[in-house]
Amino acid sequence: MTRRVFRYVPFSVEQDATAEPEYEARCVSGDEIECGVESGAYNDPGPVEEWQRRHTQETGHRRYRRNFGDYAVLRPLVCGGAS
Ligand SMILES: [Zn+2]
Repeated sequence: MTRRVFRYVPFSVEQDATAEPEYEARCVSGDEIECGVESGAYNDPGPVEEWQRRHTQETGHRRYRRNFGDYAVLRPLVCGGAS
């Protein structure tokens, strides 16, 4: 009887180039109740920053929570697998 030995298979973690990353911001200004207005999601940080400038100009709010999201794919580093 032999014991099976599981070999650790290394993976590389890569950003999924087929899915666009997402940027968004939410206004968290306010003492007890935060403003909560959201920029909406964009595939580029530019429009989000532009939205923040506009919102700050209109309201005087200056504090934001920014979210960035992307997709990751793990690829085994061993050769010979099905591609
Ligand atoms: Zn606000």
